[in-house]
Amino acid sequence: MTSANSIIEPTFDLSASGKQLGYLKLPHSVHRSAYGFIPIPIVSVKNGTGPTILLSSGVHGDEFEGQIALTKLIKEIEPAQVNGQVIILTMTNFPAAKAGLRTSPVDDLNLNREFPGDPHGTPTSQIAHFVETVLMSMADYSFDIHSGGTSLHYLPTILYRAGKVGDEQADKCKELVTTFGAPYAISIPSNKGIRTTMAAAERQNAIGIGGEFGGSGTVSSESLQICELGIRRLLHHLKIWSPITLPPASEPEETVYLNSNSENLLVYADQAGLFEPAVQLGDMVVTNQIAGYLHHPDTPWLKPEEVRFKTDGLVLAKRIPSLSERGDCLFHLGNFDR
Ligand SMILES: [Zn+2]
Repeated sequence: MTSANSIIEPTFDLSASGKQLGYLKLPHSVHRSAYGFIPIPIVSVKNGTGPTILLSSGVHGDEFEGQIALTKLIKEIEPAQVNGQVIILTMTNFPAAKAGLRTSPVDDLNLNREFPGDPHGTPTSQIAHFVETVLMSMADYSFDIHSGGTSLHYLPTILYRAGKVGDEQADKCKELVTTFGAPYAISIPSNKGIRTTMAAAERQNAIGIGGEFGGSGTVSSESLQICELGIRRLLHHLKIWSPITLPPASEPEETVYLNSNSENLLVYADQAGLFEPAVQLGDMVVTNQIAGYLHHPDTPWLKPEEVRFKTDGLVLAKRIPSLSERGDCLFHLGNFDR
């Protein structure tokens, strides 16, 4: 099964039953390899008639928790325990993941800003097009795993689409969030027209959620555990995978629900400098509270710039590198307003 327009070819039939291991071959003719292809790892485990879920990581190549969680899951999941289909992409933007970079070194593009993609575009755009038109269109559910990458660190947080009363798809997203049992969940405005994996899922009528699990260019073992356990709860709840036993402590913990209904929840550097944070992840903060300072060691007699919060909220993510430019995001808050 391939898209009519895409030149990306899977090395196996995506509709085949059993456990299929292979690559999406994206033709890429370059100096070092005239007839080469970019090999994007893909696994499908299919049995029975249950629903299809797409699990993805490595959309940003400097985010590692999801890549590890899915790499481990692939070894465990066998067709006999599956009713439906689990499609797994560990390094969705393969060139970015291979380089450990947020964006692809091949075309400098951010896959999570390229949907719905272009079958005749650059490699990142072609990947977006294939993921949306072929894989998302096969999927009833999708879970796209992120972290703060090199520049941010997130508390373990599920992202989901906010919906109005009677919005059935949004209600189903919320059900997945509750099932996942992460410590935090943040609703974001409806994604239609936005160029992310969650928007792609929505356009293709898949129930799609995302997640942020740590970051800092490393792997947080606590976040990784939460991610791994949550994936198992999702697959179990949807009756797609019935492992003989769920791991201990499999009851979801209480999730703190937040939302992101104001641009003021993102705090930016107004000028370049060395960033000194004044609050920590998980802190509750209030409007006008000092978020941190930007110091100027090149002009050390200058007063540091005070960065202040513009709204109340809970600190979900913070910038990791101290060296900052005007326009860099320093904090991401969630709030409790409805
Ligand atoms: Zn990401």
